[in-house]
Amino acid sequence: MKKEKQKPAYGMLSNCAFMIRRAWRDCKSVLVIAAAIVFCGVSASLLELFVIPAVLEAMEQGISPGALFRLILWFTLGMVLIRALRRYLDANTLFGRVEVRSGLCSDMHQAFCRTSYPHIEDPGYVKQQEKGNEATENNRSAGEAIWNTMTELLTNLISFGVYLLLLAQTGPWVALLCIVLAAVGYLIGEHIRAWRYRHREEESALWRKLTYSMERSKDMKLAKDIRIFGLAPWLSEIYDKYSRLCYDFCAKSQRRILWADLLDVGLALLRNGAAYGLLIAMALRGDLSPAAFVLYFTAVSGFTGWVTGIFSGLSTLHRQSLDLSALREYLEIPEPFLFEEGKPLPLQPGRQYALELRDVSYRYPGGEKDTLSHIHLTLHPGEKLAVVGKNGAGKTTLIKLLCGLLDPTEGQVLLNGEDIRPYNRRDYYRHFAAVFQSFSVLAGTVAENVAQAPAEEVDLPRVWDCLERAGVAEKIRELPQGADTHLGRDVYLDGVELSGGQMQRLMLARALYKDAPLIVLDEPTAALDPLAESEMYQKYSELTGDRTSVYISHRLASTRFCDRIVLIGDGGISEEGTHEELLALNGEYARLFRIQSKYYREGAMEDA
Ligand code: ADP
Repeated sequence: MKKEKQKPAYGMLSNCAFMIRRAWRDCKSVLVIAAAIVFCGVSASLLELFVIPAVLEAMEQGISPGALFRLILWFTLGMVLIRALRRYLDANTLFGRVEVRSGLCSDMHQAFCRTSYPHIEDPGYVKQQEKGNEATENNRSAGEAIWNTMTELLTNLISFGVYLLLLAQTGPWVALLCIVLAAVGYLIGEHIRAWRYRHREEESALWRKLTYSMERSKDMKLAKDIRIFGLAPWLSEIYDKYSRLCYDFCAKSQRRILWADLLDVGLALLRNGAAYGLLIAMALRGDLSPAAFVLYFTAVSGFTGWVTGIFSGLSTLHRQSLDLSALREYLEIPEPFLFEEGKPLPLQPGRQYALELRDVSYRYPGGEKDTLSHIHLTLHPGEKLAVVGKNGAGKTTLIKLLCGLLDPTEGQVLLNGEDIRPYNRRDYYRHFAAVFQSFSVLAGTVAENVAQAPAEEVDLPRVWDCLERAGVAEKIRELPQGADTHLGRDVYLDGVELSGGQMQRLMLARALYKDAPLIVLDEPTAALDPLAESEMYQKYSELTGDRTSVYISHRLASTRFCDRIVLIGDGGISEEGTHEELLALNGEYARLFRIQSKYYREGAMEDA
């Protein structure tokens, strides 16, 4: 809870400097254009301020009509040129600014894809990432909108300085009155904005629920259930409820804005009335010439604008700075694993590998007890090891430890006798081909998915060889574009959906293509029936040859071909041996095996 209130690591100036450094690196034109916009803003305001007083003064001095015409022409030309330049700049600001923001987006994206895996499972890290993303989401996000804020703020500050010098010539009162009343007006407005800011979580929770109910109604995956279970009235009820609540929230917020606007108008009347009164009194006393009167008169209304602009610019900059600070803090979260800065661990083709868990315990962050406790397990070179156990026993956690996706809370993971921690973790991952429970198929072509690489890097003959060995080549040949057919319809309308079994074989082809010395299978067959699972595991076993491999399953029969089976239970290895040895032991494995085979036999008879 306390964390929420923590001060941001970087202040406004630091974040402005950060963005300027990014623009200097990624797109210098952003800085040039920003400076030019400030120039235009200040020049335009000065021209507008001085045009009428200058003409009046010239007339007072009785200059010739020709000179007067030339004077007006110069002012007009100046204004036209500045407006044209501003238009040109506005039309050209977007691309550079988007480029700078895209650079930040890319850093965020890379950071999430490349960070140590434990971060992905850490809700604190994910939350920080979401906060950081807010700075880059769209054109209105801090990572892009800050340029507007900075240029406007700078224009306001410079113009404020000029107007202040000017008004100061009439004595302190006019300038003071404008500053104080503009500040009061601003504070009232800020009170309203702060109310909205304080309630932003409530507001976004309402919108999230409304959007959720809208999206679920359109969700193709839910279409069948919506009809069969008659979910439509329920979804409509949710939609109606949250659309009403959103409406009420907006109405509440609009009422506040209306009151603030009314007060603002009142203050403007007071300010202008008083300031103009002072000026009129001075003019009547003969202290001001007509030209000077018009000049100060114009300056009073403009001055208030600059003061309000500075306040609101600072407040916007403050909020944007919070977002940018969150982004920078996210990008600077230290990595628990070593990557490029670690020792290299080159893959040695043809070498066999042993993996060892030495007195390993693991507890998930925030967990009350260890999921795995003091495990000793050695996976010998070329061995086929099965890890079995009930759901939730800790099999996947064990695999994550072996694959180096998690580091033990206590103990060590050793590759051929060496602790893996000092090594480059990406080098370590190159030693593994793994298939996890959820298939990681991307919306690329079949070949790209097998090779896990973009099309130009794919070794096509090798892809076909692996598809052949995995027994899915025939199916892929039948597809409209063979191995160039896209998978899934999320991105490509011509994509194909493969069945569970075909997908299995594709994953096998992918594992074969990687040709890694260590193979891990974490129940990728959960969607298959027990017989198909058994066959699939046999096939993996044949095709992966004498590579060191680990097979995980909660179906005990699937892994009986393995050299050794370990049963995980109560956070540790409760039984260990070959299938026959474990049956002879007549312990938990034998009991589970009997229950499962009875179920499968009955299932098979029912099917028959
Ligand atoms: P299995 O693969 O044997 O089904 P897991 O290794 O997935 O079991 O899970 C073991 C235990 O660890 C379960 O109680 C599960 O709830 C818990 N667990 C798994 N992943 C996480 C996580 N990211 N955070 C907290 N607890 C987790």
